[in-house]
Amino acid sequence: MGADSSFSHRGRAAALAKMMEAPVDLLVIGGGITGAAIARDAALRGLAVGLIGKGDFAGGTSSHSSRLIHGGLRYLEHRDFRLVFEASRERRILLNIAPHLVRPLPFVFPAYKGARVPGWKIFAALWLYDLLASFRNVHTHRWLSRKAARHMEPGLREKGLTGAGLYWDAQADDARLTLATLRAAALAGANVANYVEVTGLSKPDGRVTGAVVQDQITGQTATIQGRVVVNATGPWVDGLRRLDDANAAPLLRPTKGVHVVVPRARIGHTNAITLLSPVDGRVMFILPWGEVSYIGTTDTDDRGSPDEIRATGEDVIYLLRSANALFPQARLAPKDVISTWAGLRPLLAPEKSATPAQVSREHRVVESASGMLTIAGGKLTTHRVMGRDVVDRVAQKLHEIDGRGVPPRAGTDHLVLPGGDIADLEVMVESARARDIPEPVARHLVKTYGSESAGVVNLIERDRSLGRSILEGRPEVWAEVVHSVEREMAMRLSDVLIRRTHLFYEDAGHGSAAAPPVARRMADLLGWDRGRETEEIADYLTEVQRAREFMTGVARASRVS
Ligand SMILES: Cc1cc2nc3c(=O)[nH]c(=O)nc-3n(C[C@H](O)[C@H](O)[C@H](O)COP(=O)(O)OP(=O)(O)OC[C@H]3O[C@@H](n4cnc5c(N)ncnc54)[C@H](O)[C@@H]3O)c2cc1C
Repeated sequence: MGADSSFSHRGRAAALAKMMEAPVDLLVIGGGITGAAIARDAALRGLAVGLIGKGDFAGGTSSHSSRLIHGGLRYLEHRDFRLVFEASRERRILLNIAPHLVRPLPFVFPAYKGARVPGWKIFAALWLYDLLASFRNVHTHRWLSRKAARHMEPGLREKGLTGAGLYWDAQADDARLTLATLRAAALAGANVANYVEVTGLSKPDGRVTGAVVQDQITGQTATIQGRVVVNATGPWVDGLRRLDDANAAPLLRPTKGVHVVVPRARIGHTNAITLLSPVDGRVMFILPWGEVSYIGTTDTDDRGSPDEIRATGEDVIYLLRSANALFPQARLAPKDVISTWAGLRPLLAPEKSATPAQVSREHRVVESASGMLTIAGGKLTTHRVMGRDVVDRVAQKLHEIDGRGVPPRAGTDHLVLPGGDIADLEVMVESARARDIPEPVARHLVKTYGSESAGVVNLIERDRSLGRSILEGRPEVWAEVVHSVEREMAMRLSDVLIRRTHLFYEDAGHGSAAAPPVARRMADLLGWDRGRETEEIADYLTEVQRAREFMTGVARASRVS
């Protein structure tokens, strides 16, 4: 099955039917980046793979990260050198296999007199950071004098500034990286479906051999058999483990992280900024994303449900206060916040006591007494290694189950992801422009879809009305709605407005004005009746409300200065 047909609503139905028809070698539960990496790796090794996620792909943590593919400068403080080494190597690999989605980003880390981390320590850390990347990062770091730092970022607070480090990491569209990885899995033969929830596990002889599932779109229930079942549900892993063993000890110590989106011009920065929050000394970031910037993140223990996580007034004030302290002229207030997102880090519970920021970002594969594998911990950056480690265990288990040979590891480190097979993004932009696509739209399409932007441009060439902007003045066009449904398995309105495009986060109105017309178009493509269309719009507006709930909290809280 080609990626185009396997990644539509029709492909979803076909994939589900196949999973229900015959046992798969590997059933992956979880459609975030970890599940995606496992499915891609296993399918490339020739295993029969099924993957299901209870919501949209990347609907959990994998669309709520800081969007960094990074070695993790911060982890040097905790002497997590192995992790930084591994993550730096992964950064290099991802820049190569998904150049349209993972892009180099320069960071300025200013040093201030009396700060928790003095300038000399930043200086030393940047050397070590480059060393752990074997000096093969995009560029090696530089130390900037006070004057050079102000020249580079004129808005930086002047008082106490002693200099700054300039170093490189990478930024990624986390949701689209997950989608691309899943599409690669499907291209390699995996059957994948979103909106399929596991409600129970089948254990006929005490061994987990499948899952009881419910299709969240049709309501249909069924059982999917898997010779090996992997729980890759991120912050939900402990809940899934309890379906297997009601007394299973928790593997995770989840921490909550919040980001706020503000107009970039208000901060006026050019580079990504690494800062020590003046509130509690934590390392955080101000990250550029087109016309907006996002500030994050908080890091607080949270035992709440991953389904209910959201930004509070307190979170928002903490983030704005931290940014204002570094960029005093920004004077950001809660009313300036365009959007927010919040996620739970599925971190491994540490053996000894630690602050949330000290909890390791390493991963671990655990097998239950009934044979279900769970992957816990890890990062967006290290997802490929996590996938590989899980599939090594799966291959071994399959060998033990039916005596088959253990397949060699797949070339996940050099096989490019869909859309990534281009050396020069500018050439693609030029080619789109030559087909009468305005430059801002051409740039947006190439940045979002890489080489697959050609497919979106083809849609526009066939029907010029699809070249119109979804919202006036913005580069997202109607062809993307069609593309999302027909080639990216968008099943619900929020899939298009939140994760396929990012209107939810980037438009000052959260894309609410686009909700009715986009729902209309999706109704035509997916055969929704009027009732369903209205329901989709209402559900979307509820999501918008959730992202703005912090406003009631800030009304009670103190002034942001
Ligand atoms: C605030 C924050 C910032 C971060 N920033 C970074 C960063 O900059 N760089 C970095 O490398 N890492 C970062 N991380 C970590 C990274 O985002 C996560 O490690 C990663 O996204 C986890 O992916 P996952 O697939 O394991 O979990 P998820 O993305 O949460 O996926 C789990 C999936 O399981 C599904 N699921 C749950 N229950 C069921 C069920 N019963 N049946 C079927 N499916 C189910 C859910 O629908 C969900 O989609 C950050 C995390 C947070 C929270």
